[in-house]
Amino acid sequence: MSDSSTRERNYVNMQVNPCKMCMPMGGSLALKGIRGAMTIIHGSQGCSTYIRRHMAAHFNEPVDIASSSLSEEGTVYGGAKNLKIGIANLVEMYKPEVVGVLTTCLAETIGDDIERIIREVRKIGDFSDVDLIPIATPGYAGSQAEGYFSTIRAITKYYSEKNMPRKEGSHQKVNVIVSNATCEDIRELKRIFNVMDIDATIVPDISDVLDAPYMEEYQKLSSEGTPKEAFEQMRYAKATVELGDLVDHRYSTAAYLEDNYGVKSYRLPLPIGINNTDKMMRVLAEIRQKELPEAINKERGRLIDGMIDAHKHSALGVIAVFGDMDLVYGISALLLENGMKIHLAATGTAQKKFKEQLQSLADCYDQSLTIFQDTDFETIHEAIHDSEVNLMIGHSDGKFIWEKEGIDFIRVGFPVHDHVGAQRKLMMGYRGSLFFLDEIVNHLLDQKHINYRKRMYDAYYLQKEVAE
Ligand code: SF4
Repeated sequence: MSDSSTRERNYVNMQVNPCKMCMPMGGSLALKGIRGAMTIIHGSQGCSTYIRRHMAAHFNEPVDIASSSLSEEGTVYGGAKNLKIGIANLVEMYKPEVVGVLTTCLAETIGDDIERIIREVRKIGDFSDVDLIPIATPGYAGSQAEGYFSTIRAITKYYSEKNMPRKEGSHQKVNVIVSNATCEDIRELKRIFNVMDIDATIVPDISDVLDAPYMEEYQKLSSEGTPKEAFEQMRYAKATVELGDLVDHRYSTAAYLEDNYGVKSYRLPLPIGINNTDKMMRVLAEIRQKELPEAINKERGRLIDGMIDAHKHSALGVIAVFGDMDLVYGISALLLENGMKIHLAATGTAQKKFKEQLQSLADCYDQSLTIFQDTDFETIHEAIHDSEVNLMIGHSDGKFIWEKEGIDFIRVGFPVHDHVGAQRKLMMGYRGSLFFLDEIVNHLLDQKHINYRKRMYDAYYLQKEVAE
């Protein structure tokens, strides 16, 4: 049961419209950023369809994900037969270099051992050119955040344990793992690393896979994304920067590489807002052992200038923010440092670090706010209804609250299926934070401009009534 549930319902121990996606969703997204990779989901057809539908609508790109299509027979007698056939068909049709085999609620519940099934698959055909990687993503055991991070960790572990020799220059590289980044955010991070003269390996890199240029012919597999050879060299890198630090240590690739190979780990919040971006820049300056370049200092200066421009209006904001925990934390940081009031910050993920870190951040600004974790949209709706919230920030699953309450709504995060361009939204770094702050404040200004005549008339007639 959600720890946010304070209301009376005529049902118990259940959520209505949870504010999260499930683990294989996060796993599928991570695999999309690996060059030549395909995903097969070991479970019912519905899991794969649900994930494809959300990803295709969000990115407006074709998304192929295979399924072992477990039915009643597989559920009772085990799904090995279906999974073996599925992998063989997938390899024949797509000729992938990498296949991520993700589990689901059903596969984990019936206890299918996918590592054993994969060993058996290798005996029945020639799969010497393809890496078959088992990844445990039981849908009920976490949200897309845990699925995303654990998939990157499983792939890194798989390639690290191959013990490939070190290539020249690998010890100068920096592994960068980033959660919740749009394709545009990843392009922006690459630009920053370029300006900083840091040789970064972005893991995984969805930027040109899920925001690809128009092509005359459909490509079954994108030629973009992080190559598997990059994973083989991650254990030799000089540092790992993991952006999104709320997930448990056991899901963290930075922690895995540090614990097993001594690669220095920096786990940081998403670089949204000036303070969080400063944290990332300080780490990058430490890694490069040089001061920040002038171009970056100018970008920071522009953000400060924009914050000053906006400060007269920022205080108008009474915000409800919801979605993935790292994103909610990053956006909340930006709202607080710009003097906006957060009425509610909510996530569907159950990681107590989210609540602790956000509460201590709000305390720094002397703000009291409601924080929900492991929550659902029914609870969020109840908390917003009849409140002073004048702007919601979150993904499209909050749309029905917007429809019912008429509260202004900025769509960010995943999934955004009722607007276009979510993959091109820029929120990270000094530039992204400034664009996002402008967008928020312009929404608040529009409300002020649209409503001011009504407020004036209301005040005038109220005064008149009192006078009479
Ligand atoms: S929650 Fe479970 S059953 Fe539902 S889509 Fe995810 S893995 Fe499949």
